[in-house]
Amino acid sequence: ILEVNQLRKSFFTPMGELVVLQDITFSVQEGESLAIVGASGSGKSTLLGLCAGLDRVSGGTVSLTGLNLASLSEDERALLRRKQMGFVFQSFQLMPTLTALENVELVVNMNHHRKESQLSRHILQKLGLGHRLHHYPGQLSGGEQQRVAIARAFVLQPKIIFADEPTGNLDALTGCNIINQLFDLNSEHGTTLIVVTHDEALAARAKKVYRLD
Ligand code: ATP
Ligand code: MG
Repeated sequence: ILEVNQLRKSFFTPMGELVVLQDITFSVQEGESLAIVGASGSGKSTLLGLCAGLDRVSGGTVSLTGLNLASLSEDERALLRRKQMGFVFQSFQLMPTLTALENVELVVNMNHHRKESQLSRHILQKLGLGHRLHHYPGQLSGGEQQRVAIARAFVLQPKIIFADEPTGNLDALTGCNIINQLFDLNSEHGTTLIVVTHDEALAARAKKVYRLD
């Protein structure tokens, strides 16, 4: 479902070109789970963003569901993301002016699943946020915001979920629940999981673990 070939990524900074990723080649089969580990600053979030088509590669290719992301227009990439992917950002990226429930419903409405308006409520309840549906992100703790972000990524049961440190702000028990839910989706629905993590319990559950050097 994902093929990364000779990927290279650099950023242009006032100090010159900064090469962050080089010689990255791997593939992930549909239904597989992959954990990406590595030191802080090694480029994990950058790699995840490139795999999801959120940013452009400097060299090499990323193909998702057989489509080379670089050959798609901005709109086509956005559509692919909306229809096939869920993304959990390390910094959550919730809409500050929408409540927890509205943040999740936004995804459902964008995809015209209007009849399924109970979906968002249901998944938030499942993640232990039934009592925080109408709170705004600024009124939620870090772990609660993280669970809203996870609910948003899960709600339409995408083909592939990219998650950047999904248990990073959670206590051990909540983290364990999230891990179980991620892998339940993986085993029940064949959702492909690509997870960046420092959490050894999470990495241990993945079928493959890649370390970024
Ligand atoms: P962490 O575990 O701390 O989240 P990471 O492995 O996710 O780290 P990245 O966020 O991918 O690391 O960043 C990798 C490197 O690329 C860092 O040194 C960072 O400063 C640099 N970097 C990331 N984005 C940019 C950018 N837009 N412009 C310049 N440098 C960047
Ligand atoms: Mg990161």
